[in-house]
Amino acid sequence: MRIDIMTLFPDIVGDMLCESILGRGQERGYIRIECHQIRDYTTNKQRQVDDYPYGGGRGCVMLAQPLYDCWKHICDEAGHRVHTIFMSPCGKVFKQEDARRLQREHERLIIVCGRYEGVDERFIEECVDEEISIGDFVLTGGEIPAMAVADAVCRLVPGVLPDEECFTDESHWNGLLEYPQYTRPEIWKDRKVPEVLLSGHHANIDEWRKQQSIERTRERRPDLINDK
Ligand code: SAM
Repeated sequence: MRIDIMTLFPDIVGDMLCESILGRGQERGYIRIECHQIRDYTTNKQRQVDDYPYGGGRGCVMLAQPLYDCWKHICDEAGHRVHTIFMSPCGKVFKQEDARRLQREHERLIIVCGRYEGVDERFIEECVDEEISIGDFVLTGGEIPAMAVADAVCRLVPGVLPDEECFTDESHWNGLLEYPQYTRPEIWKDRKVPEVLLSGHHANIDEWRKQQSIERTRERRPDLINDK
């Protein structure tokens, strides 16, 4: 899986995605994440990437031209049109099933990070295949959303995590939240680890975890249960 991220802040995005599990995944060649500076594709002397919105209003809008030239450069290098995501609070809210779909259906992705008031709609019409939001709130830029999507997709690529259970046994894989987890010591601040987890009885442990998952989901996210 290769992900190209178009941003005005390639260093912060690149640094973050080169650490820890994703960093090792890149070193071992399972994934590759490349960040592109949109400003490098400007054609004006000031290297300006934004301008005032037609119709008036506050703030600035990102110009279609540098975005398009950056996007085209990546597609030309790939030799084909690459599935392109624009991070936007107006997009469909990202879910674990979207991470699975993107990992399963695409060898390559382009993720575009907006800034300011967003981007010229004509770039979206020309180049973007889907708009994704990471939730019903507004951030100052698309970098954190892009990192969230890239991380969620990349950790599903075979080889990045030690085995499949690392993600199939987690919250949202089967529509439930994960059961509570504990580690040493057995007693901490007078709080004891549930007896069943110390029993070594795997069937009972599995059953306890399943029940905890269902209870926790019902309590915290009844919408997930009602959605079924
Ligand atoms: N004017 C836009 C609106 O009202 O929908 C918000 C622009 S926001 C300040 C700047 C950029 O941050 C957006 O273009 C987008 O790339 C990114 N962004 C902000 N919130 C986001 C969210 N919840 N999900 C995905 N991207 C987001």
